[in-house]
Amino acid sequence: MGAEDLVIEGQALLGEELLARNVTIVVERGIIRRIEETSGRPAAWICPAFFNAHTHVGDSVAMDIPVTGDLEEMVTPPHGLKHRILASTPEDDLVAAMRATVRSMYRYGTAGFADFREGGVPGVEALGRAAEGLSCRPLILGRDGGELAGDGAGISSARDIPSLDEVVSRTRAAGKLVAFHAGERDPFDIDTALTYEPDLLVHCTHATGEHLKRCADEAIPVAVCARSNWLFGVTGSARNPPVRGMIDQGVPLLIGTDNCMTVQPDPWREMSFLTTVYRVPPDTVLRAAVAGSALSGSSYFIRERSPANFLVLAPRESNLWLSRDPVRTLASRAGADNILKKVINS
Ligand SMILES: [Zn+2]
Repeated sequence: MGAEDLVIEGQALLGEELLARNVTIVVERGIIRRIEETSGRPAAWICPAFFNAHTHVGDSVAMDIPVTGDLEEMVTPPHGLKHRILASTPEDDLVAAMRATVRSMYRYGTAGFADFREGGVPGVEALGRAAEGLSCRPLILGRDGGELAGDGAGISSARDIPSLDEVVSRTRAAGKLVAFHAGERDPFDIDTALTYEPDLLVHCTHATGEHLKRCADEAIPVAVCARSNWLFGVTGSARNPPVRGMIDQGVPLLIGTDNCMTVQPDPWREMSFLTTVYRVPPDTVLRAAVAGSALSGSSYFIRERSPANFLVLAPRESNLWLSRDPVRTLASRAGADNILKKVINS
């Protein structure tokens, strides 16, 4: 949003390849005009800003209620516990809660996020209000009539919606995005979701090799939400979601943090979980935390002529300057505290 001018020096991770180079980056009116290699060894690290590819920020109103039931009892519409809490929350309280969460996401270095927003048109409008004037911008995927009020449809599961054909064709006709939760507790709603050629699948916790092949062949990105899957008990091993299989098959991998009631939308913690539990290579996990920005129509990878959406980190202010592998350190060890400056023009 800032449309600022600045010149900044650092060891930057350039392009989608995240090539580490010592550079000077010249930003004019929010656009990266030039990236010039320098001979010095600059102290700062520069990495792309994050895009959280799956959230429900409305769940902030139910933060850390005990998870006592299964997935269905907790979050499945229309009677899951979170839906009952959302329905009984006054609108001003909901807006204030979502705004507090979006501000926290910005502090983590998140410039944008794709939110599945409950509550029809008023739900979509409430998130629009909550994010007003903030630098972390939502892509709002609505439901129950909210599909056209925001940026598209966030379908809770292909098996939940009787009028699915109509919802998808109306959303497509309006040129908006179609996204599905799929394969969260079992594989049986993935095939139907795939028949709609979605712009995004969320979870794929129980996807088969054939599902993954299709996602790879059709370049359908999958947002995995590993910590949420563990907390809701739909997985208990690094085999699900099949993240290694996704990487091996070439599925475009994205990272989401899912329900804010149980998981803090902190991409640093999500990356650390994926590198630790799933052994995802650090460059892959870092790329997955950024690549969802393409859904918003503007990639955050650091390139000339792109909008400037990057984070400047100060490794000298902690022990991180000792790192022999900054990409690994960013993916598994760094956090919001290490951010010196956020340059956001999303
Ligand atoms: Zn979700």
